[in-house]
Amino acid sequence: MKIKVRNPIAELDGDEMTRIIWKLIKERLILPHLDLALEYYDLGLPNRDRCEDAVTREAAAAINRLGVGVKCATITPDADRVAEYKLKRAWPSPNGTIRGILDGTVFRKPIVARNLRPAVRSWTRPIIVGRHAYGDLYQAVDFVVPGPGTAELVFTPRAGAAGAAAGGGAAPAGGAATEQIRLSLHEFTGPGVLMGMHNTDASISSFAAACVDYALSEKVELWFGAKDTISKRYHGRFRDLFAQAVEERQAEFAAAGIAYRYMLIDDAVARVLKHPGGILWACSNYDGDVFSDMVASGFGSLGMMSSVLVSPGGRYEFEAAHGTVRRHYYEHLKGHSTSTNPIASIFAWTGAIRKRGELDGSPAVAAFAGALERATVGLVEDGVVTKDLVELIEPRPASYQSTEGFIDAAAERLGRELERTGA
Ligand code: NAP
Ligand code: MG
Repeated sequence: MKIKVRNPIAELDGDEMTRIIWKLIKERLILPHLDLALEYYDLGLPNRDRCEDAVTREAAAAINRLGVGVKCATITPDADRVAEYKLKRAWPSPNGTIRGILDGTVFRKPIVARNLRPAVRSWTRPIIVGRHAYGDLYQAVDFVVPGPGTAELVFTPRAGAAGAAAGGGAAPAGGAATEQIRLSLHEFTGPGVLMGMHNTDASISSFAAACVDYALSEKVELWFGAKDTISKRYHGRFRDLFAQAVEERQAEFAAAGIAYRYMLIDDAVARVLKHPGGILWACSNYDGDVFSDMVASGFGSLGMMSSVLVSPGGRYEFEAAHGTVRRHYYEHLKGHSTSTNPIASIFAWTGAIRKRGELDGSPAVAAFAGALERATVGLVEDGVVTKDLVELIEPRPASYQSTEGFIDAAAERLGRELERTGA
């Protein structure tokens, strides 16, 4: 008896080795157990080229409509790929396009197993990193100052725009400007460097709201760190808008038994290294760039990092954090056996299925996702792993599985897990 899933999930297929893994997961782990309608979008590069990337925009619209999507890794073509796949042009990053349409925030979450020892000994539960993906250093203007001179920061209000900033978020300190603001930055006595950067209340508040949503959905403590002792207005604004987003949902935080903590970024970094995990660490753009890589490598393997895009409207797209694993795909094309870790892709599916179950009010569907996750992590804990994990688990296993061998072992264990839990 298959478990009935009430509403469809948008399925976004992808490229190379992950496309091969994707099909195996769907056919051997998901569809034998779930009566699930999938709205299929082929984001494989040949199809994106054929339809001039329309399929990517259609897929984003489907996630918006259905509320839940699951995405396979895709190639973002560069000049080499344009030649390799004989493309009409270098199509933009599908993830960038989808993020633009859903206006979402990406959260990266490591998958933990008891015998998979992170480099940081205290990390026993996932540390989820949420990165603000707009502004600051990444939309900055900078240049090399040629010699002595005066540097100023100038803001000219748009004619008739006075008071426009008062809608929505907190009013800016001092209210909307009606006159030009001019601040002296530095008096250069010789050459140097200069940079101007910005962010917007709308983007910061939307990021904070997505973090609040995700912390509530995962029932984990929410941390946010900045440097407001030094950057009193810029980072202070982030701190205040975050506090406001949390304040609006305070009752839900209390009901979920979770807390929000603001701290200085250096304090957050020091604490995170001694913390057991089980937190969502919200980071400004640059901090998120740096610390998401630190956390990912601290937890061990790219094959064990999942990722979810959460839109402010409460739409979710789940995927693996890694790419299409090109090197393994070329081996596969030569007819060689591969040992590619499918766990992050499996967790993309379980994340989407659990969320679908929650949104539909179907506990049996969410329970299936839990069973598949336990079956997969259970294999790792028994020493049944792909090659990338051999060096990382204790005790070191004597052998490793092929890509397909691991998925077959997961299918078998899932069957036993479902029997055990009576699902
Ligand atoms: P990648 O797919 O992230 O893989 C880089 C290397 O990391 C692999 O060669 C492999 O190392 C290891 N690795 C990653 N995932 C693994 C897994 N599941 N199991 C075992 N090992 C794993 O990056 P890439 O191969 O350099 O990039 C290929 C394509 O992915 C690019 O065209 C890029 O545009 C795309 N990409 C897509 C996304 C996305 O859709 N979200 C994200 C990033 C990149 P070894 O070779 O040492 O075994
Ligand atoms: Mg980085």
